Amino acid sequence: GAKAAGRNGIAFYRPQLEAEARERRALDADLRHATAPGQLSLAYQPLVAVKDGAVLGFEALMRWRHPTRGQVSPDYFIAAAEASGEIHRIGGWALREACAEAARWREPHFIAVNVSPVQVQRGSFFAEAVEAALATSGLAPERLELEVTEGVLIREADAALAALRRVRDLGVRIALDDFGTGYSSLATLQAFPFDKIKIDRRFVSGLGGASAQNAAIVRAVLGLASGLGIPVVAEGVETSEQLLSLRAEGCAEAQGWLFGRPGAPPSMATSSAN
Ligand code: C2E
Ligand code: MG
Ligand code: MG
Ligand code: MG
Repeated sequence: GAKAAGRNGIAFYRPQLEAEARERRALDADLRHATAPGQLSLAYQPLVAVKDGAVLGFEALMRWRHPTRGQVSPDYFIAAAEASGEIHRIGGWALREACAEAARWREPHFIAVNVSPVQVQRGSFFAEAVEAALATSGLAPERLELEVTEGVLIREADAALAALRRVRDLGVRIALDDFGTGYSSLATLQAFPFDKIKIDRRFVSGLGGASAQNAAIVRAVLGLASGLGIPVVAEGVETSEQLLSLRAEGCAEAQGWLFGRPGAPPSMATSSAN
């Protein structure tokens, strides 16, 4: 009966949950030993102008190759690093590495670096890490873009806002990533003068297809952003239909598999061409 099935269900699932928890703890411990340049690396994905496809910059995306498990998804290991506090170390590494990489490029493309709310909420410690990455690499602040999500203002909002203002005053641009997926998108826009809005892939994916809803949401975000004078980036553009629709709606920048997957740093492409 139902009771026996329930008992069986519990008896069956509990060891599996425990095994999963053990596995997670082991991975978290391994992340502590994942020091650059051994296991951590950055993949670079182009951001292009919607009007003509010209490359404007690259987003640095962290990759972790575990010695025995292979590639671990950033969605998993970034969350684990946020929970353990390791994010300060690996996030600091990503910032320094991305700035140093961009400083070597022949073209003055910008480099976009994702920063976790946990990093920004440390306030002046975070601002100093950004200043140090710029000073050490010699990268012009105008070529650095930091991508933050709406979560950045949920806790320690005063410290986070002060840190964002401080780096923005240097000339660094602040982009609001994954726009529309948080709980307080409009309040976040009101709290800080973001330089860019990145519309989340989930709204872009339905463009040029059957979803009138997604098209309406994208149009509304573009209208809102244009009213605020903030350029918009569409994430996750995979088809030319999506691109045409974004162009018709006046979206400035795009990123996605249609233009290029995350890959080797542009400096490697440049040096091999010579
Ligand atoms: P994100 O910042 O929103 O980055 C965009 C994600 O979309 C990346 O996933 C990218 O590979 C993926 N993507 C780009 N174009 C397309 C497309 O056309 N189609 C599809 N299906 N996907 C596309 P990825 O590399 O797995 O990273 C996931 C998330 O992990 C990032 O989302 C970001 O939130 C976080 N992350 C990655 N690197 C870092 C980092 O260095 N620091 C922090 N704090 N977070 C990072
Ligand atoms: Mg991003
Ligand atoms: Mg995003
Ligand atoms: Mg994302």
